[in-house]
Amino acid sequence: MAWKLTRDGATVHVLPGNGGIPNSHPEISATDFPAIQSFCETNGVKLIVVGPEAPLAAGVTDYFAGSNIRVFGPSRAGATLESSKVWSKDFMRRHGVATAMSWQYRSDKLEEARAKATELDGQVVVKYDGLAAGKGVYVCSSIDEAQAALDDLQQQHTGWFSFLLEEKLSGPEISIIGVTDGNRVRLLAPSQDHKQLLAGDQGPNTGGMGAYCPVPFADDNVLAAIRTSIVDPTLLGLQNEQFDFKGFLYFGIMLTPQGPKLLEYNVRLGDPEAEVLLPALESSLLELIESTLDGTLAQTTVWQRPGYYVGVVLASGGYPAAQFPTGFPITGLDQLHPSILAFHGATRQQDGELVTSGGRVMVLVGHGNELEDAVNHVYREAERVKFKDVYIRTDIGQRPEPTLAG
Ligand code: ATP
Repeated sequence: MAWKLTRDGATVHVLPGNGGIPNSHPEISATDFPAIQSFCETNGVKLIVVGPEAPLAAGVTDYFAGSNIRVFGPSRAGATLESSKVWSKDFMRRHGVATAMSWQYRSDKLEEARAKATELDGQVVVKYDGLAAGKGVYVCSSIDEAQAALDDLQQQHTGWFSFLLEEKLSGPEISIIGVTDGNRVRLLAPSQDHKQLLAGDQGPNTGGMGAYCPVPFADDNVLAAIRTSIVDPTLLGLQNEQFDFKGFLYFGIMLTPQGPKLLEYNVRLGDPEAEVLLPALESSLLELIESTLDGTLAQTTVWQRPGYYVGVVLASGGYPAAQFPTGFPITGLDQLHPSILAFHGATRQQDGELVTSGGRVMVLVGHGNELEDAVNHVYREAERVKFKDVYIRTDIGQRPEPTLAG
């Protein structure tokens, strides 16, 4: 976002930022609102564009409401669409959004959930109600797996909690992300991420190992069905419940044999989807954001660049385990072909040297007229960037094309 907004003519500061963003301020946490306010006042900042979910769920938009600093991102109430899976499922049901069947339980009703999971032959998805950094969802394929998921839920969370059992759906997944003012939405290109660590969608879930856009099989028919059964009812729901929702809205969708079904909302841009969607966006993101806040989104058109964008994550060896070594020097960025974009994630400057500082170190993005061209280009270039134990998933943008029913 910092890259795109800078290209759109804005002066951008990033809190806390990283080793690749010139105006980074690692000393300021994204949830320390008084510190953010004083930073904005000192530096004449008039607009805050929120990246991650934590400050939204903590109410950053509400904190600045009525001040002369505008925030692009939903209020704390709007952020509940992401921060509570139980609440968002109820919202989907209230407004007829196509989604999986589900059953809601509290932690004192685990035995009922166990019985339901057995009745469904273990073909269920167990979802903890709350932000769990991608670790609160268990996709099960047998009664044993479902019981083990419920055991784990019980062990991980002390005290009172809620959770969902969902019918297990099947089909390819896509991400549809839009900018909304709560009344209308402007959609960006359909994209697909690759959450699992290993090629062939194997291994543990991660924050995302790569993404690409647009998605060839998400044609006009598929997108029209998504509009009618998911996006439009969501917007009507936001209007009916009078949400103050100005920001990115992300629909995680599965294309099932029974049509598209919504798995989840996020109230922000996805990562690594953002790294391919924003280069693909020809229009000014700054204008899109300002028109949303000004109430003129209806008059704003979104233009996409032609061709395909593929982003591959360069991760630290050992990620996504709880602990792995970091602090390794990163070299080769100066050898990249000029058309490759290198977006930093977990990097920092240390004694004048760029070093790794976490799991997903950076995303390299390549462009091509065809998806295959973009894939080949970015993988060729990725070999130039080196740090100790670098790990790259090898099949981003190369899933076999699915056959869609209907
Ligand atoms: P994210 O990291 O995308 O925010 P999350 O932890 O909030 O994820 P979900 O997106 O709800 O959780 O689910 C994570 C993944 O689990 C989905 O991408 C999908 O692959 C799988 N999943 C979720 N719900 C279902 C379902 N009903 N049927 C089959 N698979 C599902």
